[in-house]
Amino acid sequence: MQLLSLTLDGFKSFAQKTTIKFKPGMTGIVGPNGSGKSNIIEAIRWVMGEQSARQLRGDKMADVIFNGSTDRKPLNRALVSITFDNSDHYLASDFTELTITRKLYRNGDSEYLVNGQEVRLKDITDLFIDSGLGRESFSVISQGQIEAIFNGKPADRRSIIETVAGVAKYKKNKDTAEKR
Ligand code: ATP
Ligand code: MG
Repeated sequence: MQLLSLTLDGFKSFAQKTTIKFKPGMTGIVGPNGSGKSNIIEAIRWVMGEQSARQLRGDKMADVIFNGSTDRKPLNRALVSITFDNSDHYLASDFTELTITRKLYRNGDSEYLVNGQEVRLKDITDLFIDSGLGRESFSVISQGQIEAIFNGKPADRRSIIETVAGVAKYKKNKDTAEKR
């Protein structure tokens, strides 16, 4: 599995459609303060299904939509697409290439698509299950998160280790079963 490209269109400071292509190996994103580096990382979180506006440094989800600048009007829609080479079927899908798209309109309408087909958020979550990617994983570590781990309570640290080790999923299933 390999990240091939990321497209931002109306997402945060990316008013103009912007596509970033990733080559095999490591990629570094550099730029002055406020140029949008963190916004790119947040776009990755968002398209994989992030539901918390706070995790994206906003008060409400609509804050991810480009809200205007001195020379540009605010936009009505944010769109992010991410494309993976899935020829090894690392992600839970028969497709050898996967493009996941998330759209959000100011009126609150939202859409998720996989290879152009509309899907539910659950389908996106299921795609990343057991992959180490996705919104509940530690594949995206944001500023301050490391510090929070170090300064966290032992029980919270344990829960992080369980998530990384893949135990958390079984605990969650057990809790659900016990509640029935
Ligand atoms: P640093 O080096 O300081 O971490 P950075 O490159 O990570 O900077 P970001 O935090 O990604 O920069 O970008 C911040 C910029 O994005 C700010 O100028 C902010 O106004 C802009 N921004 C955030 N949300 C929106 C939005 N909805 N519409 C337009 N611009 C936005
Ligand atoms: Mg930043």
